[in-house]
Amino acid sequence: MEELVALCKRRGFIFQSNEIYGGLQGLYDYGPLGVELKNNLKQSWWREMVFDRDDVEGLDASILTKPNVLKFSGHEDTFTDPLVDCRDCKSRWRADQLKSDKCPSCGSNNLTDPRPFNLMFKTSVGPVEDKDSFAYLRPETAQHIFTNFKNVVDSTSKQLPFGIAQIGKAFRNEITPRNFVFRVREFEQMELEFFVAPGTDEQWHESWVESRLSWWDEQGVSRKNLELYHVPEDELAHYSKATVDIMYKFPHGLEELEGIANRTDFDLGSHSKNQADLDIQSNVLENNESNARLATQDQETKKWTVPYVIEPSAGVDRGVLAVLNEAYKVEELDDGKTRTVLNLKPHLSPIKAAVIPLKKNHEGLVDTASNIKKDLQKLRLGRVLLENSGNIGKSYRRHDEIGTPLCITVDFETLEDKSVTVRDRNTMQQTRIEISKLSKYLEDMILKSVSYTHLRAHETPEHRGCR
Ligand code: ATP
Repeated sequence: MEELVALCKRRGFIFQSNEIYGGLQGLYDYGPLGVELKNNLKQSWWREMVFDRDDVEGLDASILTKPNVLKFSGHEDTFTDPLVDCRDCKSRWRADQLKSDKCPSCGSNNLTDPRPFNLMFKTSVGPVEDKDSFAYLRPETAQHIFTNFKNVVDSTSKQLPFGIAQIGKAFRNEITPRNFVFRVREFEQMELEFFVAPGTDEQWHESWVESRLSWWDEQGVSRKNLELYHVPEDELAHYSKATVDIMYKFPHGLEELEGIANRTDFDLGSHSKNQADLDIQSNVLENNESNARLATQDQETKKWTVPYVIEPSAGVDRGVLAVLNEAYKVEELDDGKTRTVLNLKPHLSPIKAAVIPLKKNHEGLVDTASNIKKDLQKLRLGRVLLENSGNIGKSYRRHDEIGTPLCITVDFETLEDKSVTVRDRNTMQQTRIEISKLSKYLEDMILKSVSYTHLRAHETPEHRGCR
């Protein structure tokens, strides 16, 4: 983990947040390369969840949340961790993560009994701070998917089964944030709420677990480093009938990367019921249950159903950590030296190609390199960099370390034969390629980076059988 953290800081992937004022625990900032990697991972998820399917719509909802939403979702009562204090050194710990009955900091066994600590951050909305201005920062993106359920159904005429996808920030006041970006207080989630007819939920749950495993594999997170954890009944969240966690071998141990829960009709049912109660109190509900109910109506039978929901919920920051950990390699070279390489899948690489003139500031070479950069950039496949360093060896080492799949060198021969040397990050092989063929070469490499196995997975007979 230390090597990865050092690389992230040195090369500009991830920095401690608020660092010049001493940092703020549990918060990290993504630097110039980190933001590209993170965006690429999110884009890959969005492409699979929304673009590649016709049964999922996207959403981008607010972070500030009215207390009623999180009251009726059950979070006010149950979104807690057990907190213990050390009476001697005043440190605080999560009781369920203590390995013994001693304080991990000072070794004292003078600990308080565990008490529930609610993880939700509170804030105030508007200029006057009073009981009506109080709001939460959302602890998961899911709730506003549920509260927007009727808006999405009414505006898209979706029929079951269908999903609503969202990527965005979530906030949890973790008692002990730790292990770099694994457990932080401000993070991003990629969540899909996939609504299905009751009775088909278990089959859909299984199918989503398979789809999510295959997606992680495509991001370079090898199946051999992933394990499924079927959460036992006494550990299930209050809304869940069954949860399967995808566990990854992080540098600090095997821990949750993504949770896939069968949330049943708990959330839609609870918001419907409470919405209906509120409407009845204020005489809004006029005998038309669909006014308030977060339900779908079958076009033929006209029957209203509160759907069940399967929720694959992945952490972006844990995803970035897993992808970096999988890609990070220190290789022995033939000459006895070593090289550090980030073997990232090209679609995730922060920089897709670096174009390097052999001689710094040489007009002809720099002009040619600059035109190549512009042409490749036009493909809109991601960032292509012009690197006027004049030190090819150093550039290769830097780009190996940040995961750039291709380095393109423009040399004096280029000016004669209109071809360049393309160096492959993984094999270190150098190939001479005509400039006119570079766009296709780069495009093929990025497209090959994603195998689209998930598209085939969606089309298995079992999958169709769920519909
Ligand atoms: P954990 O048991 O590790 O606290 P959780 O079961 O509470 O996680 P979920 O509520 O299922 O997590 O959230 C879905 C996903 O959001 C998790 O799989 C994880 O990837 C991510 N996540 C949750 N909490 C954090 C956090 N504090 N920091 C970073 N990512 C998080």
